[in-house]
Amino acid sequence: MNTIEKTDKYIMKSYGRLPLALKSADGVHAVSENGKEYIDFGAGIGTNSLGYCDNDWVEAVCKQAQALQHNSNYYYNKPGADFAEKLCAVTGYTNMFFGNSGAEANECAIKTARKYSFDKYGKEKKRYNIITLKGSFHGRTLATLSATGQEEFHNYFFPFLEGFIHAEPNNIANLKEKLNDSVCAVMLEYIQGEGGINPLEQEYVDELYKLCAAKDVLVIADEVQTGAGRTGKFLCGEHYGKRADIITLAKGIGGGLPLGVCLANQKCANVLTAGTHGSTYGGNPVALAGALAVLEKISKPDFLAEVVKKGEYIREKLSEFNEVVKIDGKGLMLGITLKTKTAKDVMLAALNKGLLTLTAKEKLRFLPPLNISYDSIDKGLDILKGIL
Ligand SMILES: *Cc1c(COP(=O)(O)O)cnc(C)c1O
Repeated sequence: MNTIEKTDKYIMKSYGRLPLALKSADGVHAVSENGKEYIDFGAGIGTNSLGYCDNDWVEAVCKQAQALQHNSNYYYNKPGADFAEKLCAVTGYTNMFFGNSGAEANECAIKTARKYSFDKYGKEKKRYNIITLKGSFHGRTLATLSATGQEEFHNYFFPFLEGFIHAEPNNIANLKEKLNDSVCAVMLEYIQGEGGINPLEQEYVDELYKLCAAKDVLVIADEVQTGAGRTGKFLCGEHYGKRADIITLAKGIGGGLPLGVCLANQKCANVLTAGTHGSTYGGNPVALAGALAVLEKISKPDFLAEVVKKGEYIREKLSEFNEVVKIDGKGLMLGITLKTKTAKDVMLAALNKGLLTLTAKEKLRFLPPLNISYDSIDKGLDILKGIL
């Protein structure tokens, strides 16, 4: 049996996989088991921030793997400490919790928000509801599925967790209606990723923060997809001039190894106390040694300025395509609305021609490595041009 046959036989079919098995890769280029080359505009769903097998990342990971691969959270470890110090310096947040995924980071955020309210207002107040937005995606665990504001995710796995209220994005009247005394937090994606690259409007975000501040309701920004430089700022909240109380990062922050981070400001920094939360693999030294190598590069202002420029360059080139109606997103997180073709058909055609892309709802989605070269952008877009 080949890789595809074996996978389909022995691994649960929870993914709608494409018929491609990758064997090796370098930068923006991936090579299949049959030796075919691909330009990758998806970067492992935005996880490989510096592309495949960046030299510094590989070196940091290998060095740490040889020194000590894991030591549990009973003990301290240097890669975690160094990474946390650097991430606080870069973001201005007070402290953080490490998990292994976006869903886990969001679970931590949800628990932190609920306990913040429990500690401050008491159990009797039942101030535990979290407002999330329709069209959002927050993960696949039961709590984060319940948080996810898309009906299509609310099947099969009943009962879902109570305590989530779904509000209309960019609709202040609707938010006001739902923001009652039972609410401890509002959780948002500044730009909905899986939901279709849908940005929140500045005015809405302004008003949301005001309303929350007035009621001591926490704001949780799920920056799992938008964070870690993806939009050309280290945090997407910077575009909006906003600092959430709690921020979650995953995908690109690990640079290709599993890492989820829940960051807290001063207000929420001491909510989780010993024994209230944990994760066996959380804070794994190998993942964090790699993440530190990535963080050192992607947090540099010059690097982020390049992300902005490359995003603009792609937009400019795309705008010349007849088939492109609209381009949403920021930096190197782009959602493309097509005139006549479906995103899925274009993605499949691109795959055949050697370009890997993603979709997000009905849009074609690009999340290329943040350090992609202009030459690779040109090559990828030439393939796309042939298809469109
Ligand atoms: C991908 C994603 C998640 C879930 O991350 P996992 O690592 O798959 O658990 C959560 N929130 C957002 C915004 C995401 O894009």
